[in-house]
Parts: sequence; C-alpha cells; structure tokens
Amino acid sequence: MPELPEVETIVRALRPAIVGRSVVDVQVTWPRHVAHPSPAELRDQLLGQAILAVERRGKYLILSLDRGQSLLIHLKMSGQLMVVESPGAADPHAHTIFLLDDGRELRFRDTRKFGRVYLVASPEQVVSSLGPEPFSPEFSDEWLQARLRGRRRMLKPLLLDQSFLAGVGNIYADEALYRAGIHPRRLAGSLTPAETRDLRMGILDALRAGISGHGATISDFRRPDGSPGSAQEEFLVYGRSGSACYRCGSIIQRIVVGARSTHLCPACQLERK
Ligand SMILES: [Zn+2]
Repeated sequence: MPELPEVETIVRALRPAIVGRSVVDVQVTWPRHVAHPSPAELRDQLLGQAILAVERRGKYLILSLDRGQSLLIHLKMSGQLMVVESPGAADPHAHTIFLLDDGRELRFRDTRKFGRVYLVASPEQVVSSLGPEPFSPEFSDEWLQARLRGRRRMLKPLLLDQSFLAGVGNIYADEALYRAGIHPRRLAGSLTPAETRDLRMGILDALRAGISGHGATISDFRRPDGSPGSAQEEFLVYGRSGSACYRCGSIIQRIVVGARSTHLCPACQLERK
C-alpha cells in the first residue's frame, strides 16, 4: 500500500501537471470506486471546476476545487494516478478517469479496486479521525511522550494506526523502528524519554528517505508519469530478511507482529530492555 512518501511523491508530481486545469468530463467504470456522492453526481458537480491545489493528508490526496469543494483520493492497496494524453490507451484497470481541459487525463488505475474517491464540501468530512502529520509541529517529542505514556499496546500496530499518527504504514514503521533501535513488540508505555526521541527521529528520517527516493516500488507503486520509485533500494530492513544488518552484521529477520510482516535486526532491536 502506498504510504506517506509514495503519496507525497504523487502530490509533488501532480501539482505542476494539473493545478490550474479544469475537469471537462469524468468517466467511472467501477461505480464503487466513488465513495461519495454517486458517480453521476460526481461528474455533474466536477464539470467545469478548476483544480486550485493538490495537497496530502496522511495517505489521502486532496484536490481543492474552485467552487470550494475538495476531491479526495485514497489509493489503498494498488491505486495509481497517471497523467496521460487523451484519449489514453484502453485500460481495464483505469476505473475513474478525469478528462482535463488541456487534452490530458488524470487516470485512477486500481487493479485490486480498494481505492476510493470522495467529493465533499470539506476534507474534514473524510479525514477528521486522522492523527497528526509527522512533519507538523504537533508531532513533537512532548506530544509523543504524552501519547505513549501508560499505553500497553505494541509499538508496531500503534504506528500503523492512522488515528494515532497519519501516513505511516507497514514499510516505514519497520524502517523507523530499526532506525530508532527499538523492537516492534515493545509496549508503547515502556519507552524511555531518550527512546521516544529516537523513535520520533526514526519516523521522520525513514519518511524523508522515502520521499527523497520518490517512493518505493515494491509491487504496484508508480509515479504519475509511469516511472517507478527507488526508495526500496535504500531500505535498511524492509525486504532484507536473510541479509546482514548494515550496522552490526547480524542477520535481518522477518517476524509477524499484529498479523503484519515485520523486519528487524535482532541485535540492534532487543526485545527485552
Ligand atoms: Zn544490527
């Protein structure tokens, strides 16, 4: 699933490509792709609207429109956003297509069909339950320490909880915990103040590395021009089970935590401290 760095990569590529453009038609071939309103209402309300801005909140893309509405897109498991010349080649996986006034199309491809589109008066109608953005001032050492204190939940599932912190998923949670030297099964409330600081820096550094690599292409992720990201080439633990830890030479392990595949160095990330 695309996480914060992948969605941020798409946002940065879409801005110069579609900001200022207007929507001249909408084609929906998989009606459930449109979570709100109906596909027909989506088309009626979007026609003629200009795209003023492209932003990100957690793993959602938010397109601000000139009549005050917002178009939100969540890519879920396999979603891709492509900008192509219109008419683009027939594509059975392009379930929602936005035709633009410059003769191009913004295509929402989605082989597994879990992605969703929302057209709403305010983004808060969709994203109000999300935790803070990792790169916002709200995500401070003090905030994190207060939110971890007394909590008996394991860290890995907590980091995946979008209502705790927005944007981190399975890949960057593993990378962040490795960078912090903290075992994924550690209970949130057991962290020392120093470990809490390391965790926050680990999260930010892992996400920054993902963004500077233009996202990770493990399976489906593509940039809007169709090219893959390269962040996977710089991963420290994710997908490296059986290889040597870059820091200590121990063998990277793959375990299951909270039903999710998890990668760690058993020497750098001790389970009991
Ligand atoms: Zn190690």
